[in-house]
Amino acid sequence: MSRSEELFKRASEVIPGGVNSPVRAFRSVGGTPRFITSAQGAHITDEDGETYLDFIGSWGPMILGHNHAGVREKVMEACMDGLSFGAPTEREVIMAEMICDMVPGMEMVRMVNSGTEAVMSAIRAARGFTGRNKIVKFAGCYHGHSDSILIKAGSGVMEGGVPDSSGVTKGCTEDTLSAVYNDLSSVEAIFDQYPDQVAAIIVEPVAANMGVVPPAEGFLEGLRKLCTRYGALLIFDEVITGFRLAAGGAQEYFGIQADLVTYGKIIGGGMPVGAYGGRKEIMSVISPLGPVYQAGTLSGNPIAMAAGIAMLTILKENPDIYRKLNEMGEYLFTGIKAILKETNAPCTLNYVGSLGNIFCTPEPVVNYETAQKSDTAEFGKYFHFMLDHHVHLGPSQFEAMFVSAAHTKEDIDHTLELIRSYFAK
Ligand SMILES: *Cc1c(COP(=O)(O)O)cnc(C)c1O
Repeated sequence: MSRSEELFKRASEVIPGGVNSPVRAFRSVGGTPRFITSAQGAHITDEDGETYLDFIGSWGPMILGHNHAGVREKVMEACMDGLSFGAPTEREVIMAEMICDMVPGMEMVRMVNSGTEAVMSAIRAARGFTGRNKIVKFAGCYHGHSDSILIKAGSGVMEGGVPDSSGVTKGCTEDTLSAVYNDLSSVEAIFDQYPDQVAAIIVEPVAANMGVVPPAEGFLEGLRKLCTRYGALLIFDEVITGFRLAAGGAQEYFGIQADLVTYGKIIGGGMPVGAYGGRKEIMSVISPLGPVYQAGTLSGNPIAMAAGIAMLTILKENPDIYRKLNEMGEYLFTGIKAILKETNAPCTLNYVGSLGNIFCTPEPVVNYETAQKSDTAEFGKYFHFMLDHHVHLGPSQFEAMFVSAAHTKEDIDHTLELIRSYFAK
């Protein structure tokens, strides 16, 4: 038995499914998750001493590659001064100033501890600000695991084949309306029915939790217009796209201004961090300024802020990173596209910048319904072929491949060669 198998067996006795987040458990592809001991650059090493080329990147945060010295050193420095104070610190001010500086339209930001918390709080702020109750989300978009938005969610919810979570009461989701990604008419229909009741539309500007689904031409612009027309707020959930597509995230990349934006993943540089923010006028509803309560014992934690500041500083001072990342993404994903075509593989490839993935369906994937046409058993075979050849992909058809600044052209060429040999078989 391998060390990973041993550990997974032990873990399964004391942790539900052996993991602290469902997708890690390999349920949809079968087999045993690799227990990781360390990671460096584009590579991770498991308990059995095997090293893999990694395209998960901790699900996004490791945009600079694993264990980046510039982030690690700042964290270690901060640790020397104490782990938490429960009182304000300069690092929180610096972090907020940096976010406001880098993100278009951002005037005030509140730090939290995860993407889930960021979204939950942003929705509460939107409801408090507008005095309205209803929220529109898109099927297949994932916004964390808080009650009100766990309907037709992506990520691990999709993988389990359950559209909705047990334990979430009808009352919690009765004000959540589900629309179809890339289909403005489905949103218009909701506004027709509830013209003055929608507090906000929340959307992943590039859907990356039902596999990667780019926004169709005009989709995000259309949402912006509808929100403005009906007095609803537009919330961009940039937990994945933030600081990835560009320093200013999807707002900058697509040139669209949201009213509230949520962050997680990259913003913490690998520490558990989330954030939400927007215009002063909206953020002023948050306690203690306003009546919308939101708090956190460890929010703005000094170690987490040190990691976040280091990460954002590197991204801000090296704008070239984005050009290179997007070029590397382009090289990988157009390479895969060509292979799929040349081998007549019954697969589709979607990508935006450094995010992309192969869907095991020949049909175009533009929303939840079309993503679900994928042959997940076929994906499992592909996944295990890659893993056997030491390439670590997200263990689900519906997770993105994340390219980092540490991936070299050689890494990508090697990956393409493996993908070619798999599909040419
Ligand atoms: C990961 C993710 C979340 C949830 O963030 P957690 O830190 O896992 O709570 C929310 N929205 C999107 C788009 C995500 O990808």
